[in-house]
Amino acid sequence: MNHVDTEDWKTDSPAEDNSVKGLVKRAAYCSLIVVILFAVAFQAAVAAQHTTTNVTASRKVSLDIKIVFIGFNKSNIDTEYLAWRENLPSQKANNIMVGEQETRVTYDLRYEFVFLEHSFKQKLLDSLRRISVEKELENPWFNAETHNVLYDANKVEEWFYKNRADYSGFPGNGYTFLIANLTELPSVSYDQLAQPWKNLAISPHYYSVEYVDEDLGYRIRNRQFMTAWGGHYRMWFFDVSAGPSFNTPEDPPLQVVLKALKIDLNTQYGRVWLTQYLADYLWEAVWNFAVPQFVHEPIYSKRYRFAINIFDNRTDLERTSVPVDKTVNTSRIKSTFKELLPYSEIEVSIKMQNFSSDPDLARVVKESFKIIDVGTGYVDVRPVYRYLQLNIGKYVPRILRNEEEVTIPMFCFVFSKQHMAYTSKWEVRGYRASLQGIALGDMAVISLTQYYELERGAIVKPPQGTKGIGFSQTVIHESGHMLGLMHPFQFGQVGDFVDSPMSYFAHSYDFSQFDKDALRRMHADRILLESSAKLAEAYELPMTRIAMPMSLARLNNAQDLIRRAEQEYERMNYVEAVSLALDARRLAAEGLRELREMPNIWPLAAICGVIIGVVVGYYLSDIRRKTRRPRSLPPSSTQLDQRILQYIAPCHSVHAYGSQPLHVACLPRKA
Ligand SMILES: [Zn+2]
Repeated sequence: MNHVDTEDWKTDSPAEDNSVKGLVKRAAYCSLIVVILFAVAFQAAVAAQHTTTNVTASRKVSLDIKIVFIGFNKSNIDTEYLAWRENLPSQKANNIMVGEQETRVTYDLRYEFVFLEHSFKQKLLDSLRRISVEKELENPWFNAETHNVLYDANKVEEWFYKNRADYSGFPGNGYTFLIANLTELPSVSYDQLAQPWKNLAISPHYYSVEYVDEDLGYRIRNRQFMTAWGGHYRMWFFDVSAGPSFNTPEDPPLQVVLKALKIDLNTQYGRVWLTQYLADYLWEAVWNFAVPQFVHEPIYSKRYRFAINIFDNRTDLERTSVPVDKTVNTSRIKSTFKELLPYSEIEVSIKMQNFSSDPDLARVVKESFKIIDVGTGYVDVRPVYRYLQLNIGKYVPRILRNEEEVTIPMFCFVFSKQHMAYTSKWEVRGYRASLQGIALGDMAVISLTQYYELERGAIVKPPQGTKGIGFSQTVIHESGHMLGLMHPFQFGQVGDFVDSPMSYFAHSYDFSQFDKDALRRMHADRILLESSAKLAEAYELPMTRIAMPMSLARLNNAQDLIRRAEQEYERMNYVEAVSLALDARRLAAEGLRELREMPNIWPLAAICGVIIGVVVGYYLSDIRRKTRRPRSLPPSSTQLDQRILQYIAPCHSVHAYGSQPLHVACLPRKA
């Protein structure tokens, strides 16, 4: 028994099959199907491209840290406990300290521990003994002369590098920290350190470097007394039995600490204690070298322009004695930064002037001079900074901090004897904050004096004649801060023993591998973030625009470049990664701009779908009409009556007559 509603009844007869209404219905269904098919096809095409895009607002990248133990019993260190995130950082968000901005980059740190056999230690000891130099020297830690055994730190670093196969090489994407315990070498004991009145012969061992100021030839003193070194490779070594060093007063040798704290390494707690002790040093190394923080925002730019202004506030005699143009070397500064940022243009300009030619600045400096005692005092840097900030256009007319150019204004003052100082309320406690330089984000201010720096050779023991310290090294250090780099001892003083101009201890002019990696990696990170964001934006546009072959090809190329940049990044080829990421970002931006300008053809596609649907619907209905067998005879009068009855009373069901149901196919069924 079929139930037919009144509307269906009207189209029941074959004669009515090809009526306008039927045609419209078929066309509508076909149109709908065509439109849906269009949509699904577009969606599938876009989705296929989209799944491989790295659409992120932040980045999480991996770094491997290999830790090599030399001279330790494996049984004395619990590596599982050492790898616990309380002992060694498992993740590190890379942030900017001034302004507390986030870089949106987090490093996932993976550790590998290697214990070297006794034979390796023996090989190292032999090598060290071959290069050892014994010297009676005034040792600033002891404030007395000691018999020191010195090893050339650069030679030791080179030895570790050449013998890296013995600890299965460096990780491809990370850093190696070697930690040695070499008490077989002449080392300081607890008794020697704790009971100096006993006048025991003290013979510590140290790693040594030598630095000479490149401007004025002064030899930096006391650079023999180091316990660690590195910076030329992705490696840093630390000897826990060396020292103590005056520069790291909180880090006496391990053998001294063990006795002072009565630690027995052969007990369960001894194992825990040693693991934690080493973890503290390794934690510092990871934070100082592998994933350092930034002091200012590390902006990638096509050009870095260092605009150096030198103000000479010395007497005529002092100016004649050390001409100001001898105190700074622009070509050295330029080559240093070209090596640090090989993908950018470096410009260094210098302007020298006497205070007499700038009476306003001279007045501010004079008014900021605080006399402490007769003949001593300082120039308070804050009012001078404020004046320079308000009048910056007078000194450096065009200042940019964007991708086209990062301008670094530098103001270098030469005084006779008084430094500048950054004062504070703690000054009352005797705190003296005299400074050689300060990087303030929008400018750097440096102050050197004739007495303490330019003619330093005359005031030190033993004297160094007319030798002195010029501006170049401090300019490089402060400029490093302005680009974002932090001190390598920010998270532990022993990090100061590294060949970097960002170290206080080293008087280096060339950036360490850690500095280079940190800055270049961050530039790559940021450009990759921007490239991915541009691609994500493109994919958010209406799908019909993206599905255009030209646009898809452009987006695919951008995606491919991002993939290649990531590959180089993982191999620590950050210079190549920056270059590829820049190409990817340019392509993604071009593609995005092109897509935005393209009209949205979705409504047009829908209209096309309807037209196709109508045509197909008509065609199908025409075929059906032509191929259908004639249907049963016209309804009998009884049937007709029944229908009429049903038309009159639509709520009654229509009954079939005989075995044949009254209504058969041809009616579009209502779901
Ligand atoms: Zn600094």
